Amino acid sequence: MESLTPAKPDCSPKQSGFVMPRTLEVHEMNINQAPVKPWSGRAAAEALKQVKAKGRRNQTPCVICDQGIDYSLAYPHRQSCSVQHIKPRKHFPQLTWDPLNWAPAHLDCNKSAGAKIQTGLGITDDW
Ligand SMILES: [Zn+2]
Repeated sequence: MESLTPAKPDCSPKQSGFVMPRTLEVHEMNINQAPVKPWSGRAAAEALKQVKAKGRRNQTPCVICDQGIDYSLAYPHRQSCSVQHIKPRKHFPQLTWDPLNWAPAHLDCNKSAGAKIQTGLGITDDW
């Protein structure tokens, strides 16, 4: 016995299950279409220097865990200062090189946070 299901073949041309991937804020990325330099190399090192200098001056705690950062530690120490992008580069590539989008974070925190930090500037206390 054959199964009787297929009333129509699975080939309707217009709507054959074409689903747009719904990503958040896709349009944000189209505002500024200038190619963005990848976050690496000397420019990233310079950015880190800036963030460190400013963080040291202001005694800025880690933007992720809110603990103090020992600014004398150097990469690749896990507790050393690294540059966290407040608005993730993934969603806001055009802000990659915007110093206002940089904040100091422990290297370890930075790595584990990934893109978890959302668009908000405030970090909530999650106790
Ligand atoms: Zn931290």
